[in-house]
Amino acid sequence: TEIGSQKDRVVTEEEWLRKWQMGNIGFHKERGHPLLQKYLDILLNGRSGLRIFFPLCGKAVEMKWLADMGHSIVGVEVSEQALKEFFAEHSLPYCEEPVPEISGAKKLQSTSGNISLYCCSIYDLSSSIAGKFDGVWDRGALVAVNPCDRQRYASLMITLMQKNCSYLLVTVSYDPNKHKGPPFYVPESEIKSLFG
Ligand code: SAH
Repeated sequence: TEIGSQKDRVVTEEEWLRKWQMGNIGFHKERGHPLLQKYLDILLNGRSGLRIFFPLCGKAVEMKWLADMGHSIVGVEVSEQALKEFFAEHSLPYCEEPVPEISGAKKLQSTSGNISLYCCSIYDLSSSIAGKFDGVWDRGALVAVNPCDRQRYASLMITLMQKNCSYLLVTVSYDPNKHKGPPFYVPESEIKSLFG
């Protein structure tokens, strides 16, 4: 098929944690992603005070950026180190609390209350825990999900979307036989069948 050799590739949570430990985080963009600036108006669609979701958030600086614009941010990330680096690098005080519905999970919340980051697998989250969102910034998320989990991921994302939710998705286009990923190559046709 089109994605051939990547179809069966699996990156485990432990491997992601190790990437963070080793500082192997070439995906992190210190200065934010130009496509968010470019398409911000589409995300906001004239609305203010949105709830915006960052799946597989890492320490994306766009979370701080949107929070400073008055939106409330929810992220999810398996690496606690990533989340702690996020708060430290922006000098944001935060507190930690357990998430009663998810065993072993933690929520790290800025003291100001507008940034809540869940430390757990995204597959443990649901709308009854995290609520629904007006906007989603999906960069380094769908493309980081193991190809075998894409359907599950997309179905979950759909359940987290409010009726008028705007979803900005960034993908990468390249020959999947030349790199093993992540980021994985997700063909346009697959995006259409996943999200409708
Ligand atoms: N979106 C971020 C990070 C992209 S890298 C950015 O744009 O910089 C993908 C991130 O997903 C990594 O930080 C990894 O630790 C995290 N991750 C991988 N699998 C996950 C899962 N099942 N649930 C939550 N986070 C996960």
